[in-house]
Amino acid sequence: MSKFFRNLLIIFAIFIVVAAAFSFFRTSDKNTQAISISQLTQEINDGKVDRIEVSDNSLNVFLKDNSKQTSTKEKEVAFSESLKNYGVDPNKLKETKIDIKSGGSSSFITSTLLPLLLPVLAIGLFIWFLMRQVQGSNNRAMSFGQSSAKVMETSDRRKRVTFADVAGVKEAKEELKEIVEFLRFPQKFFSLGARIPKGVLLLGPPGVGKTIMARAVAGEANVPFFHISGSEFVEMFVGVGASRVRDLFKRAKRSAPCIIFIDEIDAVGRQRGAGLGGSHDEREQTLNQILVEMDGFENETNVIVIAATNRPDVLDPALMRPGRFDRQVILDPPDINDREAIMKVHAKGKPLAKNVNMRQIAERTPGFSGADLANLMNEAAILAARRNVKEVEQIDLYQAIEKVMLGPERKSHLMSKKEKEIAAWHEAGHALVATVLPHADPVHKVSIVSRGRAAGYTMKLPAEDKNLHSKSEFLADMAVSLGGYATEKTIFNELTTGASNDLKVATNLARQLVTRYGMSDLGPMTFGESHDMIFLGREISEQKNYSEKIAARIDDEIAAFIDLGYKTALEVIKKYHKELKTIADKLIEVETIEREEFQKLVADIIPKEKMLQPGQADLPSNLPSPAVA
Ligand code: ADP
Ligand code: ZN
Repeated sequence: MSKFFRNLLIIFAIFIVVAAAFSFFRTSDKNTQAISISQLTQEINDGKVDRIEVSDNSLNVFLKDNSKQTSTKEKEVAFSESLKNYGVDPNKLKETKIDIKSGGSSSFITSTLLPLLLPVLAIGLFIWFLMRQVQGSNNRAMSFGQSSAKVMETSDRRKRVTFADVAGVKEAKEELKEIVEFLRFPQKFFSLGARIPKGVLLLGPPGVGKTIMARAVAGEANVPFFHISGSEFVEMFVGVGASRVRDLFKRAKRSAPCIIFIDEIDAVGRQRGAGLGGSHDEREQTLNQILVEMDGFENETNVIVIAATNRPDVLDPALMRPGRFDRQVILDPPDINDREAIMKVHAKGKPLAKNVNMRQIAERTPGFSGADLANLMNEAAILAARRNVKEVEQIDLYQAIEKVMLGPERKSHLMSKKEKEIAAWHEAGHALVATVLPHADPVHKVSIVSRGRAAGYTMKLPAEDKNLHSKSEFLADMAVSLGGYATEKTIFNELTTGASNDLKVATNLARQLVTRYGMSDLGPMTFGESHDMIFLGREISEQKNYSEKIAARIDDEIAAFIDLGYKTALEVIKKYHKELKTIADKLIEVETIEREEFQKLVADIIPKEKMLQPGQADLPSNLPSPAVA
């Protein structure tokens, strides 16, 4: 907006300058004296006149004393004729120079046309500026129906990505190598009458590398890459999405062979007819248009559409029909080997110290996605730079893990002595319960250095690969979550707000046991159906499909689970009070205890299977993020 006012000011300034110039000329005009023809004749006879300019009927008279006069002659009569009529001395007239200028002279332009034209020009200029402003602030106002896809041309070598840049996801790579073949040697397939797939759907959680994979396909096949996000199709106005789809496909067909990548296709490809909110018509039209375009591909068109989503469950089945996105490629979260490989890819250009052991980092990062790992390597480099060292060291990588997982350490966050004491006992409570209960995950680290919004944290990592979770594990988790609360209550006979997140976690878990997993006395049933609100794409509403009577029983069951967890935690704390105190004291002293040290502290009570074996490397993979309590 300030730019707009600046331009307005410039225009205003131009106006003033022009106006000033005009008034100047006008006033200089007024200084020249207008005389009659008889006066002029007299002056010629007196020999005062040096030169006369005649254009049409107006005369500019330049006198020998350098002054200027104007006059007008009669129309239809030649100038010399006029002078003669007034009795000019022919000899004197001969001494005077007379310039005759033809009509339409410059004086006509300056005196008549310019004053008319200039304001028009100025106004035109003003409007042009305005238009530019409008376009500038809302770039797409003039090109609404055009797709805003970003194109990566093959000539753009710097940004070219190949399969070498994508680590892990082996199965997906194998599948997509076929697509590369189609793009590079289509003739091979046509000659055998094979139908080339038109669409590939990449499925996987955020950050596993769907985008980078699609780019790698384009890079390997050396074809242009059109990138657009599903949400970019959807505008406020109905019909825009569809016309953008048309435009995108038209552009793509022109540069075939090529790849169109539609990110977040679930933004437009949700099941039709499930319309909540006003925009569903628009989405349906957009989706229909995508389908129409894909159906309309001739077999020879060699444009392959790759779409990505992390919500395959909400996609319209029509998308998956043969001839559309009939190939589905699943990208799994990286396992320990993949994580190591991904970090190595992102270590390119970062000098690593000799002591760096990527395997150890991979062990400590179960649940990290490719994007998290890329971020981790970057954070490590930043931490190293801050320490003013020339190489990234293992310690930087360790610290980066926690930074990515929990947000930056807030060392500056000063705790009062009392606060520190409470936090130490609270975390010691979590850690102790996690250590003692056989079904709880082993403790990896305990700390009372605040991170992000947590005052302290206890990091547990599962000891083995788990895809199924048992009721015993859930109950143990609940007790661990309540361990902090139980400790505060026992030791200080007082409660703080520090436990609020723990309570939330425990309550949610208890609710799920009852309503999702059928693990309560209510029996093998689920309760409630969650609905996606489309515009948020998150579960925010839950439909109640049970009676008030059941609702009351659900609440009772949840309360019973929580009570069980709390009692278990209390019991552990009472029984192992000595160890609890040892952990809390150590925390107050050193603030952070790593796994090895922690094990020494609780060596007497830690179950064998939770001990870290010397040289133990293969920690689980494919697991949700490490739990933080
Ligand atoms: P998605 O599209 O699945 O959300 P992206 O492809 O945008 O994920 O991944 C984000 C970033 O994470 C990439 O730019 C890349 O740097 C990194 N990344 C993710 N997966 C991998 C992988 N398998 N190998 C290398 N880098 C990866
Ligand atoms: Zn806690």
